[in-house]
Amino acid sequence: MGTDSGVFHDRLARVRERMSDLAVDALLLSVGADLPWLCGYEAMPLERLTMLVVPAKEEPTLIVPRLEAPRVDDRPELFRLVAWGETDNPVALVGGLIGSRITLAIGDHTWSRFLLALQNELPARRWHPASMVTSALRAAKDNAELDCLARAAAAADRVAGAIHHGDIALVGRSEAEVASDIGRRLIAEGHDKVAFVIVASGPNSASPHHEPGDRVIGRDEMVVCDFGGILDGYCSDITRTVVTGEPTPEMQDMYAVVSEAHAAGLSAALIGSRCADVDGAARDVIADAGYGEFFPHRTGHGIGRDVHEDPYLVDGNHTLLEAGNAFSVEPGIYLPGRFGARLEDIVVATEDGPWSLNQADHSLVVVG
Ligand code: ZN
Ligand code: ZN
Ligand code: ZN
Repeated sequence: MGTDSGVFHDRLARVRERMSDLAVDALLLSVGADLPWLCGYEAMPLERLTMLVVPAKEEPTLIVPRLEAPRVDDRPELFRLVAWGETDNPVALVGGLIGSRITLAIGDHTWSRFLLALQNELPARRWHPASMVTSALRAAKDNAELDCLARAAAAADRVAGAIHHGDIALVGRSEAEVASDIGRRLIAEGHDKVAFVIVASGPNSASPHHEPGDRVIGRDEMVVCDFGGILDGYCSDITRTVVTGEPTPEMQDMYAVVSEAHAAGLSAALIGSRCADVDGAARDVIADAGYGEFFPHRTGHGIGRDVHEDPYLVDGNHTLLEAGNAFSVEPGIYLPGRFGARLEDIVVATEDGPWSLNQADHSLVVVG
């Protein structure tokens, strides 16, 4: 785990404060990112229940299957550990810890079989998603988290650099081959896991979430490379669009618009800006250039332990950016059946203005 427990004490204090504001009597966390964020332990996504029960005022208890108990770092100062055996009923154990508490917030990713069993065990309670408590707290990254995100972004930048410098060849190879090279490189540069790799070439570059396939990359094509991994629990996510030869004037013009939209989104990413307005800043540039209908997705998403989390930079989201919010700025233009381009960096809202964690070249680099 490696993170010192002061960080977890601070997070637990913030969680309790928010529980009290929302009149939540107990928080129940199982699989998903809330649990490792709060206490450093990640539940195995298996049929045996792991659950941290955090009553509003009393000591938290982590319920784990006995065979997984050795994976739990001893953190007596953070929670009490209860290991259950193969013939125990963990749902009844959780029920006992909840007692007569009424308003419960349960992890959004908890398996429905456990939620249904708990609802049967604990009738006449009010159930809410745990994100109601945790999401805004997780969105405002603390320094330990910003350090992880910055290291993940720097590692992703080095992979983008490898593409730009021709260390990963594109022409004459399939998208899937290039994608597996990018995945290996993500690991070589320090990620613990590959989260996803999109390599979309030629007409496929007009599909924002294209699945890399057998298509062999040719000359004079746009290629959108969007990839990310997980480093010390935190995600990277970067997109660079390259061209395998000479871009046409239309490709250059379109890319210039994407690049300008990205710059506009980045400079709007200030503490106190509405998420919708950051989206609007990027979108207006694209609309003004006549490409409005070809930018079909939101400008960005929060990032942390999950690749996509709050805050979402999307029209209609009037949430104000706060210090420590980390999110992508990733406008794109996609001309169906022809070509597309996207430019994506991870950005943090800070007191000193927008801080771009990614520094890889923004230009439409010509590669082989
Ligand atoms: Zn995406
Ligand atoms: Zn991406
Ligand atoms: Zn993204």
